[in-house]
Amino acid sequence: MNALLKPHTKKWFAAFAKWNPWQAALTFNIVKSARSAAVCSYCGVKRVRDYLVVNTRLENEWSALFRLCEDCALSRQKNFGEKTVPLTA
Ligand SMILES: [Zn+2]
Repeated sequence: MNALLKPHTKKWFAAFAKWNPWQAALTFNIVKSARSAAVCSYCGVKRVRDYLVVNTRLENEWSALFRLCEDCALSRQKNFGEKTVPLTA
């Protein structure tokens, strides 16, 4: 079993880009313009937690760990059927 890739790190972006290049590029720009890794992977707000998407795998079987706000976690569950589990710190 793989260790978790920390969201918004170089390695995480590399795995994400192979799985979904378009979304990875968007997230890269979000993080870059926020000048902080502590933002939502999808919308860039700053109230976030790390969520494990248990029914998805990134490239090379990396676990799909995302940094999400509550709204994005919920809407991705609803719209894409992602099963997201918040990680407790
Ligand atoms: Zn969000």
